[in-house]
Amino acid sequence: MKKRQVVIIGGGPAGRTIVHMFHTSDQNVSATLIKDERINANRCAVPYGIPDEKPLEKFQIPNALVTDYGAELVIDRVAGIDTINKAVSTTAGDRYPYDDLVLSTGSRPVIPPIPGVEGQNISAVRSITDLSFLRQLASTGKRAVIVGGGYIGIEVAVVLKQMGLDVTVVEMLPTILMATTEPEFVGRVADELVEKGVHLLTNEKVVEFVHPSDDQVVVKLGSGASLAADFVVLSVGVAPNTELAAQAGIKTSRLGIGVDKHMRTDAKDVYACGDCAGKTSLVTGQPTRGEFGTNAVFMAKTVAHNILGKKKTFPGVINANVTAVYEWSLGSAGLTEQMARDAGIDVVTGYSEVLSKYPMMNQVDTIRTKLVFNRDNRKIVGGSVLRKGNCSAHNVDFISFAIQMGATMDDLMDYQYATHPELAAKPSDNIYVFATKNALTK
Ligand SMILES: Cc1cc2nc3c(=O)[nH]c(=O)nc-3n(C[C@H](O)[C@H](O)[C@H](O)COP(=O)(O)OP(=O)(O)OC[C@H]3O[C@@H](n4cnc5c(N)ncnc54)[C@H](O)[C@@H]3O)c2cc1C
Repeated sequence: MKKRQVVIIGGGPAGRTIVHMFHTSDQNVSATLIKDERINANRCAVPYGIPDEKPLEKFQIPNALVTDYGAELVIDRVAGIDTINKAVSTTAGDRYPYDDLVLSTGSRPVIPPIPGVEGQNISAVRSITDLSFLRQLASTGKRAVIVGGGYIGIEVAVVLKQMGLDVTVVEMLPTILMATTEPEFVGRVADELVEKGVHLLTNEKVVEFVHPSDDQVVVKLGSGASLAADFVVLSVGVAPNTELAAQAGIKTSRLGIGVDKHMRTDAKDVYACGDCAGKTSLVTGQPTRGEFGTNAVFMAKTVAHNILGKKKTFPGVINANVTAVYEWSLGSAGLTEQMARDAGIDVVTGYSEVLSKYPMMNQVDTIRTKLVFNRDNRKIVGGSVLRKGNCSAHNVDFISFAIQMGATMDDLMDYQYATHPELAAKPSDNIYVFATKNALTK
């Protein structure tokens, strides 16, 4: 029997997940993955690769993660898609016919149209090329300005400060980390950054970059102030790579390539997943942003199942996310209180501060938790956690799963958990139960 030919464009987590899903399937699929980056970065780790203590290779994704899993790997750029004759063409002039096509073209950093942005010593944070450049800039520069106080900008700020640089973050919104974090938690994290010597300028816009010499950048601000820097890091968000799809007549929007619940585009046998694909919130059912590696993997699994004939639907993104700021870790899943209000949900919130261990143990800290519920149906729609150590990821995962399963306040009050003096709060105390109890008083 002829093997089903699947062409995958893009070698990030979305593209690679499809390859891995095919590898574990017993079906007759032949996959070709075409990507234009010779070596992909492990993007999540790029900020942590700026100090050159570890070899650059540690921050790369080996191409063997494609070739060892039964797919043909082509390093080339796809320049066109012929959806009628079902083939893609590359800049090298090659043509690859497909039975099914997967668009996993990812996203690219937004380069804001600020005068001088094309000048020297200004870098984005995404690719291995960016990482090499950032290594070079941070090894010679002493003063860095980071434009954008989202989680990537803050991760870079912490790393550069730990390397001994003078670091300023410029954020045009009223607070840093506004897209992912509850305001109650941002204050503590901002204080920590300031205590460690990171300068935070919020409500402040960059209006121009001036380049007095090859190795200096003057960052001019809307307030009239100027910052002298040796280099600038841009982290103001990403834009989905939709152009290839749009050229082929596939429906796209500002939020990505249009897909249905099966991750199918409006072209026959063409799917999209990952950063490049449009996303729907699992909570609201409305279009949303959600450029996270985990979302890319979940969407890609749905695509692979459908190509393999399993008719799977994707329920929408929860946008579970976590980050670290010095010894703190924080994250959220679902909607913040403000997002829920903006979505028209009648919201009730619950807050808890619970000890991380039994009180007599050493190094006991406080875990701060905020849960957001829909007052009408009592379902959890979001939650955030701030604590010391790296455990927030597990807490956010729990909240994400509770949202995914449609858990109500009553479910959370009855939830059965584990405890141990060194590992968790005492038996009567639990971060989710206490936050829910608090919400019930309202
Ligand atoms: C600094 C940083 C930190 C991050 N940290 C986290 C984190 O902690 N947790 C988390 O969940 N997410 C994180 N993310 C987000 C995560 O990395 C992305 O969501 C994820 O990489 C998206 O995967 P993808 O496969 O959709 O796209 P990508 O990883 O962008 O891969 C797309 C690939 O397609 C290729 N491509 C595009 N067009 C073409 C074409 N025409 N022809 C051939 N190839 C093409 C691109 O070159 C690229 O290799 C971070 C991102 C960055 C930049």
